[in-house]
Amino acid sequence: MTFCSKVHEQTRLIHGDTPCDALQRTPGPPIQRGSTVLLPTCEALYDGGKVTYGRVGLSTQRTLRDALRDLENADEAFLYPSGLTAITGTLLALLSAGDEVLACDTVYNPTRRFLAGTLARYGVTARYFDPADDAEAIRAMITPATRVIFLESPGSLSFEMQDVPAIAAMAKEAGVMTVIDNTWAAGVLFKPLDHGVDVSIQSLTKYVCGHSDVFMGLAAAKGEAAKLLAASSYETGWAVSPDDAYMAIRGLRTLRTRLAQHGAAALEVARWLESQPEVRSVMCPALPDDPGHAIWKRDFTGICGLIGAVLEPASEVAVARMVESLELFGLGFSWGGYESLAIPVDPQLKARSHKTSYPGPLLRLHIGLESVDDLIADLRQGLDTLSQDDVSRQRLRAAG
Ligand SMILES: *Cc1c(COP(=O)(O)O)cnc(C)c1O
Repeated sequence: MTFCSKVHEQTRLIHGDTPCDALQRTPGPPIQRGSTVLLPTCEALYDGGKVTYGRVGLSTQRTLRDALRDLENADEAFLYPSGLTAITGTLLALLSAGDEVLACDTVYNPTRRFLAGTLARYGVTARYFDPADDAEAIRAMITPATRVIFLESPGSLSFEMQDVPAIAAMAKEAGVMTVIDNTWAAGVLFKPLDHGVDVSIQSLTKYVCGHSDVFMGLAAAKGEAAKLLAASSYETGWAVSPDDAYMAIRGLRTLRTRLAQHGAAALEVARWLESQPEVRSVMCPALPDDPGHAIWKRDFTGICGLIGAVLEPASEVAVARMVESLELFGLGFSWGGYESLAIPVDPQLKARSHKTSYPGPLLRLHIGLESVDDLIADLRQGLDTLSQDDVSRQRLRAAG
């Protein structure tokens, strides 16, 4: 470049050009890093309609947003640095002091903490409805202050299904916005915006990224809600890195393939668990006996890998020992990655407003992409530790 040949080495090192038009074409998009966006004219600096600063996202984030907007059939998709910030960012965008949220009692516990903490300080109140409440029962709870109904279906700990289309239609009539945490369906198995919901949120950390190594969140919205989210996400300044956006785009390539495998394996494990003597019941809406089966069959096109199992009564210690004995199921929070996970969830149910109890301990399983036979063998040896524990307890009782 002639400009470069005229200046000193120090300047040349700083101004060496990056010719964008020389990018080679690859199957994946380029990862474009940049805070400053170089503009051709002074007029362009103050053109509100254009990208003039990197925080709002450059080409890599835009590629991801377009793909997620189309996946959720939304007007616009907004990215956040985690699923939780997608939830808190959406609530901040839609709510004002004096407003009230009606939330399903199955919501993700950090959502509950945000409502009780930050939003309560800002003058927003929250009430919880029972996941079994239908649209009419929720309508009866609406007051002039109600602004948002927050749903999660199925609940990610206890798998209750809500009649989302009926609740969304009722809310629309009442002038209330509906928001759903759609992480379980990964934007594929259920399309909330097609059923009248205003905002569909996902923790992209789970299935979209899919490899337990990236945090990211999505709020996909239509109409008025999309306008409010656009203004609020610009004001609050949440940003995701182009590298993480690239990882999410890569996850999308295999999302449907992975989900199909997770779902088929989860159904196989669920059916197997139903026939085990240590298992009282299995929570999976694809099972015909599941209380949410009819709604699931009507609204969803499949299941993901997340299911629940209520065990026959056993001590907390015995359940801990059983979960710790599993070799292929990791012990840890989160889900949606390629690997299987198992946790006891009873402590998390204590936060609910409507007390929930089951006849035995509740386990949550994430069925990963391992061989189903190996996973079933691992669960069988885990369940064996429970019956061994029963035997030793009976012996102790007999001896005492
Ligand atoms: C994990 C999870 C979130 C939060 O997502 P992060 O990306 O971990 O912040 C929200 N909702 C549900 C249902 C989740 O499982």
